[in-house]
Amino acid sequence: MRETLQKLKSRSKEPVAVIGFPYDAGSSFLRGPADAPPLIRAAHRSPSANTWSELGIDVDAPGNYLDLGDLDLPDDTDALALISENIDHILDVEMIPLSLGGDHAITASIVKAMATKYADLHILHFDAHPDLYDALDGNPLSHACPFARIMENGSASRLVQIGIRTMTGHQREQAIRFGVEVHEMKDGLDRLPLSFDSPLYISFDMDVLDPAFAPGVSHHEPGGLSTRQAIDLIHAIKGHIVGADLVELNPRRDPLGITAMAAGKIFKELLARIVTGVK
Ligand code: MN
Ligand code: MN
Repeated sequence: MRETLQKLKSRSKEPVAVIGFPYDAGSSFLRGPADAPPLIRAAHRSPSANTWSELGIDVDAPGNYLDLGDLDLPDDTDALALISENIDHILDVEMIPLSLGGDHAITASIVKAMATKYADLHILHFDAHPDLYDALDGNPLSHACPFARIMENGSASRLVQIGIRTMTGHQREQAIRFGVEVHEMKDGLDRLPLSFDSPLYISFDMDVLDPAFAPGVSHHEPGGLSTRQAIDLIHAIKGHIVGADLVELNPRRDPLGITAMAAGKIFKELLARIVTGVK
């Protein structure tokens, strides 16, 4: 991967590297997100739509991103080190990784690599769940735990969570322990902090959307964002975005492909927001 990237990068100037991480061994309830990366790409390129962002650019025009394809990963936690390693390679050639998951366990590995390059990393996390469990069912590498791992490693100096509607007593304690800025759905969407003065990483869990808009996720949690609200929030982000992921699409619960199309749309708007910020 390192050599391939260096070759590609020597003759092109794309700011963003798209990479798929087909991994769902961190899932606590249902498998399926490992199948998602090619379906997000297919939705993005569906002839039923087009590749122009609402921000006014065709994201598929040359010069915006390189698609590195999907990483070949084992179906166990050995995959996690490979994910970190490949994010390292992307950062080595000065590119911005945009990862397609996969379940949310991948984010701890991605951010571990991001933190080696960015000492003062801020994270904006969209999710129904805070994912702050110290361990779930005895598993500290569960998709319910990545932000506990990130904060205890000191990989991020600020974590802002949006869309949360499943806080437990334990996770409230964890949020206080790590100084996490949790913005719950019940408190509304006005006055969300969307301006960042440090390198910003964005993690987008598809279940932040209400299951009425995005049924193809493992954990149906009612009371979430509309797709429209999520796009508006992405467009409103101010700051220097240095990486992002889109996780938790579960194609096994998405027979009509509605959630894949929502993921394709979020991918496109996120990519456009990153690209318009660096060009
Ligand atoms: Mn999550
Ligand atoms: Mn979630």
